[in-house]
Order: sequence, then structure tokens, then C-alpha cells
Amino acid sequence: MAEKRPNRVLGPYHDDFWAYCREGELRLQKCGACGYISWPATDACFDCGARGDFSWEKFSGKGKIISWCTFEREYYRGVLPVPWDTILVKLNEGPIFLSNPKGFAYKDIEADMPVKLAFIDCEDNAGQFKLPVFERA
Ligand SMILES: [Zn+2]
Repeated sequence: MAEKRPNRVLGPYHDDFWAYCREGELRLQKCGACGYISWPATDACFDCGARGDFSWEKFSGKGKIISWCTFEREYYRGVLPVPWDTILVKLNEGPIFLSNPKGFAYKDIEADMPVKLAFIDCEDNAGQFKLPVFERA
């Protein structure tokens, strides 16, 4: 059963990201001009500003947790129950990705804990989607 989640940002580039997730792939935009990986999805490279010149680089989904926090306030009342764990994962290829833990909680986390990509079935007002999350490696 799909977990209810806050509404995604959709539109140009964001839709591409979610389409790759639906295929079970984590892909981020690589700038054709300078090679920088921009995340979240954007229409202009975060490093050099080049517009629309991207390829979608596939990532291994392996990384380590470099930070984490737990939300105890209901920012998404009726959607996300609290406490709500969030992790910051540094992917092995370099980019930093904000996500949620799967199968463990904040009390289990240690700095540099290795994790691997997983997808969970979620739903927002636009429909069902695959959300990239991380489980213990
Ligand atoms: Zn660039």
C-alpha cells in the first residue's frame, strides 16, 4: 500500500527525475558544459548557469549518512505522522541527497553509516510514485 506523502514538485526536469524513479533508477542532472551534478532538478546548472544542457547520470545509490534529524512538529498534519526521520546521504559519486531511512530510525544512526538505495511506493495529490529512500548497506 502506498504511503501518503507531501506533494512533490512537478514540472520540467522534475518529471524526468520521477520517471527514472518509477523505473527504479536514481538519476541526477549532469551539466553538458561543466560536468557539475545539480540536485534538486533545475533548468540551469547550479555551478556554471548553463541552461537546458543536461544528461541524466545514473547513480549507484550507495553512500553514507553524513547528517540526520527528527521532526517532532507536525508540518504535514494528516500526511506524515511524527516523529519523522530525515537523513542526509553523501552518495559515493559525490552529490548529497536528502531522504528518509527505511528499516531503521534516528536512534540507530551513526555518522558515516553506509546505506544503499531503495524505493517505496508513495502517493500524493498527483498520484502514485516511487520515492527514493535508503536502507542499511
Ligand atoms: Zn554547468
